[in-house]
Amino acid sequence: MVRIAFIGLGNMGGGMAANLAKAGHAVHAFDLSADALARAEAAGCTAAASAVAAADGAEAVVTMLPAGRHVAEVYAALFPVLAGNALLIDCSTIDVATARAVAGDAAARGLVAVDAPVSGGIAAAAAGTLTFMVGGDDDGFARAEPILSQMGKAVIRAGGNGAGQAAKMCNNMILGATMVATCEAFVLAERLGLDAQAFYDIASVSSGQSWSMTSYCPVPGVGPVTPADNDYRGGFATALMLKDLRLATDAAAAAGSPVPMGDRARDLYEALAAAGEGDRDFSAMRPFLRDGFDVAAPPASPPDAATQTERAG
Ligand code: NAD
Repeated sequence: MVRIAFIGLGNMGGGMAANLAKAGHAVHAFDLSADALARAEAAGCTAAASAVAAADGAEAVVTMLPAGRHVAEVYAALFPVLAGNALLIDCSTIDVATARAVAGDAAARGLVAVDAPVSGGIAAAAAGTLTFMVGGDDDGFARAEPILSQMGKAVIRAGGNGAGQAAKMCNNMILGATMVATCEAFVLAERLGLDAQAFYDIASVSSGQSWSMTSYCPVPGVGPVTPADNDYRGGFATALMLKDLRLATDAAAAAGSPVPMGDRARDLYEALAAAGEGDRDFSAMRPFLRDGFDVAAPPASPPDAATQTERAG
């Protein structure tokens, strides 16, 4: 049993904190949202009055926050109360520079920090089936792995501090670009008179195959059940894909690394979000490209989320 402070109990953190409590850890939780805090308490966590109160006496801290500035602010507030042997695990998706800066500040105080962003969405967070990509030293990874494995199905070391975030943004840049390519191919196929099911049957076993095609097909009624079958609701929001593409393309610009496909995917997701569809699943790129945005009415009985395929994110 580990005394864990869990900060950030939103869509992802709520399920993750609940799984740590279920595994028998003493989870002292905090979120700025009273509703999120109440849900965590109902799931077996101890509600704390502040992030500092949650961290006082903690052996490990887990954070699941919106962006880099929240992560930097929270750890700056926690450093004075953290015990010298505390382990810091940030699971948020943030920029590499902030991840490294937090780890450096932690090391200067004798603390060990790892970045451990996740793949898998809200359903995987609730089910404890996330994939963690971890950046940190040997000691940090060895100590974080048993905690992370209680929230996920795979915990993979990416390298030193910041490498987890680098892996996450590179992975999601591939995902964004392949989803755009898959969507535009389905739209073109349709305009060329090809049946969508026939094109799926061919491309899914040919060199056009990708995760976006076969696990997350953006066409309703084709392939496995996906958010496309639920009016492009649920799944991985366009706003989150845009956030990840901005992180990737900003990092690429700073590193002087050309990412023409990533840049174009970011611009297209900017346009989809600007059309007011930031909450829609990122596979809504297909109706956006096809119709300029006019998705079909929701199906009469939306599929049960639990029966849907593995979620992106
Ligand atoms: P969310 O907005 O639902 O949750 C974030 C929570 O952090 C909120 O409850 C908010 O109140 C809380 N918070 C913000 N600042 C705080 C502070 N200073 N102190 C305490 N609590 C604070 O977001 P989410 O969907 O849970 O995503 C969290 C992170 O996970 C993000 O970095 C996101 O990019 C990443 N992620 C999300 C998904 C997904 O499918 N939602 C998938 C993979 C990764």
